[in-house]
Order: sequence, then structure tokens, then C-alpha cells
Amino acid sequence: MKKYDIVIIGAGCSGLSLAHRLLDTNINICILESGNRENRIRKTWSYWDIHQHPFAKLEYNSLSDIYCINNSFPIKLNCESHNYRSIDSRQFDKHMFDKISLSKNIDIVFDICVDEIIAGTKYIQIKSNNIIYEAKEVYDSRPDNIRASMYQVFLGYYINAIPPIDKVMPKLMDFTQDNEFSFYYVLPFKDNSCLVEYTFFTPTVHSSEELKSNLDSYIKDAIGQYKLIRSEYGVIPMSPNLPEQDHVKNVYKIGIRSGATRASTGYTFLNIQKQSEFFAKKIQGIHSTNPLLTFKAKILRKMDGILLRIIRNEPEEAKNIIFKMFTLNNDQTIIRFLSDIPSIFDILRIIINMPKIIFIKYAIKSLINRKI
Ligand SMILES: Cc1cc2nc3c(=O)[nH]c(=O)nc-3n(C[C@H](O)[C@H](O)[C@H](O)COP(=O)(O)OP(=O)(O)OC[C@H]3O[C@@H](n4cnc5c(N)ncnc54)[C@H](O)[C@@H]3O)c2cc1C
Repeated sequence: MKKYDIVIIGAGCSGLSLAHRLLDTNINICILESGNRENRIRKTWSYWDIHQHPFAKLEYNSLSDIYCINNSFPIKLNCESHNYRSIDSRQFDKHMFDKISLSKNIDIVFDICVDEIIAGTKYIQIKSNNIIYEAKEVYDSRPDNIRASMYQVFLGYYINAIPPIDKVMPKLMDFTQDNEFSFYYVLPFKDNSCLVEYTFFTPTVHSSEELKSNLDSYIKDAIGQYKLIRSEYGVIPMSPNLPEQDHVKNVYKIGIRSGATRASTGYTFLNIQKQSEFFAKKIQGIHSTNPLLTFKAKILRKMDGILLRIIRNEPEEAKNIIFKMFTLNNDQTIIRFLSDIPSIFDILRIIINMPKIIFIKYAIKSLINRKI
């Protein structure tokens, strides 16, 4: 039986981000990952450069403006002071696996699927088939299989345009094509390749097959003929309510499992970084505030609950609300709001600029029933 101070379950973004903060400390850590070291799911994490974190040197793309588009016109979001940046999870994995192999205090075990966590008097037991690990604290990033009322479902194609084109317009949300609450996301990279994603906010999980033909026609219309480099498909549960704490003492949820995803946008990367800082400090006995439990985080969750209800019941209205948010608020306010770092004034400005009747109607519904 192997004993550690800490076991981290899952070597994904949250597990490795927490491990990074604890490298070369006197805390013995074991990361248990069900997947294989080589066949890792490859993702691109994008966010506004508004919160410092240790992975900034891995950023390989940086945009100083990005657009939101509906049927009437494009609105530019000026990101000059907080560029829209991207990290390739393959580079992130390599960086972290190299660091862990050089570290004296962190072990990582692949191909081990944790299926049970059992409370003990001094140590918690983490079980996988016949193997048992013991730890004083456990940080668990396994996806929760609880059914959510809404999901963000997306299919992304990494493409090269044929023939190559100089400039593709970066689009955060292009609402021009569909009736439901769906949009296209276009992220051009420096090497002339491009990520084009078709995203749905939906109560039913669409398969990647169902999204393929629309994505293909959109790319052909917006960019032209293309060569597919690789694709990514994602399903992110979106709930404005934080999941319940684990029933075993000293077992903490991290990452998406902990509610780190911003329910109305799907952005998670920066919240994972803030959460990792918080837990790393806690583990080392330094007091700080859990970023998911602050007053502002609670207000944002309430607002997300209202917006998700509108998206679910009145998708066309929801598109107008989002488009208006981009039209009526200043760029800094929008970036801080979408990055979960708004000031109270930013929140007030966003609320004041919302269409009043629909916002109040769904705010009242949210007060009566917490479920979307
Ligand atoms: C395709 C895609 C693109 C995204 N793009 C963005 C973006 O641009 N910006 C943004 O902010 N967010 C983005 N996200 C959301 C979020 O940032 C990522 O999903 C992020 O990887 C979540 O980290 P995590 O640690 O919570 O989960 P994961 O990275 O999924 O890590 C969980 C780990 O646990 C392992 N595991 C599961 N079960 C077990 C078990 N029983 N035992 C042991 N290990 C187990 C898994 O194999 C996995 O490695 C994206 C998500 C997806 C799917």
C-alpha cells in the first residue's frame, strides 16, 4: 500500500495545474490518471490575458481583436490591453510531464482508473481494482456523471485554407447561421491554420456526427475549401449551481467537477488556475479565499442561471441579449465579465444594459426555482 500526503485524481488541466504549484515542496504527491501517457485528448485552451499564471510561456497565439457577429453587423471587441491567447494542451502536457519527471516529490501513474474513495481515520483510501493508495487529502478531477440541465456541445476543426488566405476574421461568436442557440467560433493562428468550432448550448447532447455537415458548410462559405488537420469534440455540463462537497472528509473536487466552468460561456481555464493557487496555498497552510465562493462569483452564477434559462426558453432573445452586451458595454468591462474578474461596477453596467423585461421575468423565475 503506497502512502502519500496528497493524491490527485486525473492528470488533466486541473490536476496538473495544481501539481505545478506544489512542485519541489516537501509534500509527497501522487497523480493517478486513467488514460494513457501517449494518447492524450488534445485541446486548445483560450482566454483573455487578464490573470497571471505559470503557463504563460506556453501561449502560442495572441489576438488583439475578436468579433461578435449577428445578421446586422460585426462588433469588434478590442483586446489590445488583454490579448486573447491560446495554449495547446499537448505543449502543456509535455511541459508538466518533464517537470514531474525531474521533481523529487511528485509521482504520476498512468492507466489506473480510480473507482472508489473510502474514508479512514488518518488516511483516505483510493482504490483501483486491487491496488490501494492512501493519502491525507485527495483532489479529485474525475468528471461527474450527474445529468446537467444544459450542456455546451461543440465540434471544432483545425484546418488549412486551400489556397492559403492572408487574414481570417477572428470570431468569438458568429450567430448569423442558425435559429437555435448555436454559434460558430473562428480562431486564426499565426501559421495560417485556423480552428473553426460549431457550438450549441443545449439540453440534449448532440453527437459530433450531427454537427459535421453544418460545420463543413460554414467553413466553405466563410473561408473556402479547406484541408482538415484534426478535430476536437467536447461536451461540457453547464450548471450555475456548485456541485455538492464530497461526502468524504478531506476529499476536494477540482476542475470541471468542482463547478469551475463559467456556466454561460464554458470558459474554465483561468478559473482552474485561480482554484489551483487557492488549493496550493491551503495545502501549505496559507490562508486565501476560494475563488468559486466569493460574493462576486455567487452573483455571476446567479446571472448565468438567468441567462441559461433565457437560452433554453427563448434562444433568439438570448442571442440579442449577448449581442447587445457587446454593443452597449465597453471592451474592458466585457473582458473582465467574461473572465470572471468583473468589478461590482462592471456587473452593474452589464445588468443596466440588459433588456429589462426579459431579464426581470427570468430573474423572478430563477428566484422561485433554482433548477434551470
Ligand atoms: C475540446 C475542449 C476545448 C476547450 N476549450 C476551452 C477554452 O478554450 N477555454 C477554456 O477556458 N476552457 C476550455 N475548455 C474547458 C476546460 O478548460 C477543459 O475541459 C479542461 O481540460 C478541464 O480540466 P479538468 O481538469 O477539469 O478536466 P480534464 O482535463 O478532462 O481532466 C480530467 C482527467 O481525469 C482523468 N480521469 C477520468 N476518470 C478517471 C478515473 N476514474 N481515474 C483516474 N483518472 C480519471 C481523465 O482521463 C482526465 O485526464 C475546453 C474543453 C474541451 C473539451
